[in-house]
Amino acid sequence: MILYIFAFIFGAVVGSFLNVCIFRIPAKGSIVKPSSQCPQCHHPIRFYDNIPIISFLILRAKCRDCGTKISWRYPLVELITAAFTLVLFMKFGLTLKFLVFFIFTAALIVITFIDLDHQIIPDVISLPGIPIFFLAAIFIMGVPWQEAVIGLLIGGGVLFAIAFVYEFLTKREGMGGGDIKLLAMIGGFFGWKSLIFILLFSSLAGALVGVAVMIIQKKNMKYAVPFGPFLSAAAVAYIFLGASFIQFLIPVYK
Ligand SMILES: [Zn+2]
Repeated sequence: MILYIFAFIFGAVVGSFLNVCIFRIPAKGSIVKPSSQCPQCHHPIRFYDNIPIISFLILRAKCRDCGTKISWRYPLVELITAAFTLVLFMKFGLTLKFLVFFIFTAALIVITFIDLDHQIIPDVISLPGIPIFFLAAIFIMGVPWQEAVIGLLIGGGVLFAIAFVYEFLTKREGMGGGDIKLLAMIGGFFGWKSLIFILLFSSLAGALVGVAVMIIQKKNMKYAVPFGPFLSAAAVAYIFLGASFIQFLIPVYK
């Protein structure tokens, strides 16, 4: 029990760091310097006002110095990271697998929120992520290397082909290059079988949310929603549901 609480707190602290990444990577700023400050009055944030989730509640979502509203996104990212750290720890315990899934999930959380804000998936995460998670898959996660190689190639290739054909037929840019690199990273990490689940889950969820956003905001589908958050959500869901999904599929392609 005490370990679960520790895992949650650890996740919240890391979530606090992920907030910094989400905020500074698109601005090309350093993620270690300067220390956190209020974006409005630039007063450095006191260490006792920098406690994940709790400080936000104590400060009632306002800067102690200038009273500017603090976005609810900060505690949300901390809460999401804490929750995933806890469930990953409950599933895998304190193992190397836990550590790899934890880093993988943290990277996807950063990608998701940057994509929501700026409609880009930062190369600084996806490009090093491709070889790092590919190697982790083979040497730590026990994914057969052939499956990881095919996953990497299909992940990168299939989306590239879809985007190419879409652009050729409609003369408009469809899926972004960032999505392709992200799917290559995911495919190389889980192996090619995962891509069936990832593509089904993400396109279904994306279509549902896309249509909802179109109706509510009366926006064009193309501008409605970025795809990165759905790929990310599908990848995290695969950590928990992947094994049962593959079990379910085996009779289909036997
Ligand atoms: Zn302030």
